Amino acid sequence: MTASIIDGKGFAAKVRGEVGRHVKRLKDEHGITPGLAVVLVGEDPASQVYVRSKGKQTVEAGMNSYEHKRDASISQEELLALVEQLNGDPAVHGILVQLPLPDHIDEDLVINAIDPAKDVDGFHISNVGLLGTGQESMVPCTPLGCLMMLRDFHGSLSGMNAVVVGRSNIVGKPMAQLLLGDSCTVTIAHSRTKDIKEVTRRADIVVAAVGRPEMVTGDWIKPGATVIDVGINRIDAPEKGEGKTRLVGDCHFDSCAEVAGAITPVPGGVGPMTIACLLANTLTACCRANGIAAPE
Ligand code: NDP
Repeated sequence: MTASIIDGKGFAAKVRGEVGRHVKRLKDEHGITPGLAVVLVGEDPASQVYVRSKGKQTVEAGMNSYEHKRDASISQEELLALVEQLNGDPAVHGILVQLPLPDHIDEDLVINAIDPAKDVDGFHISNVGLLGTGQESMVPCTPLGCLMMLRDFHGSLSGMNAVVVGRSNIVGKPMAQLLLGDSCTVTIAHSRTKDIKEVTRRADIVVAAVGRPEMVTGDWIKPGATVIDVGINRIDAPEKGEGKTRLVGDCHFDSCAEVAGAITPVPGGVGPMTIACLLANTLTACCRANGIAAPE
């Protein structure tokens, strides 16, 4: 293996520590405790794990965590009413509605009902527009975490060729905006891209966010490039015993690591950074709501 491993787990711990210190200062100097409300609808096992982990880390950072669990049968009106109630609650500075929502609920409608100033996921159309025009916004946590790791590793990203594989609203598109904001030359590849390997092989930075286990292999990567693997896929692992599973990314780690200059592992790469950025966004939202300078 030639690639350096980008330690997202360690970096995330550092970010959480900094958030915790700022939270303590807010309490000591202003008597304010940031609060994050997470709304979970239904019983999706992966969502339950994420929400539990978010709640735990929120409390560890010294913030208040409010979990609102609702049955999958909740009506759209009831869910909108809950969002409205949280919008008006001064103890709540960040609101996160865990996706996906059940089919009978219009996700866009619910996300766009969140007060943009409390939209710590950065999915509200106002925040999307602000990000796209380079104005102060709430930045989606996963791409923000990826950007922080890239900046930490490279320093300036200016002039680098970046290819984002995947064009979802929650990862691919905001990732491309952030890289553009850092003066990369950005290409977004997706399921209709022709000769995709040729496209990624020209990249200094490849961000893979496709949701297909180990799709990106070493022959997609230019020697020395940096690979950010956003994917989280659970696959069967018969080698660990019957019925066992393991987590893999959207990149085939071993073959990519043979060629790349640096790579994020799964687990321990982008995943922990996502939650750390959620905490950082909640702190930022709280500071802005109280007219206090938010930490960089
Ligand atoms: P989506 O399913 O919303 O989007 C997947 C994207 O990948 C689409 O744009 C799709 O293209 C593209 N794609 C699918 N198949 C191919 C292919 N064969 N070749 C090229 N492009 C393809 O996924 P998300 O963006 O929500 O998530 C992506 C991955 O990131 C998932 O593994 C998810 O679990 C993970 N994730 C991880 C997070 C973390 O905290 N680490 C947070 C969020 C997501 P098209 O638009 O043409 O269909």
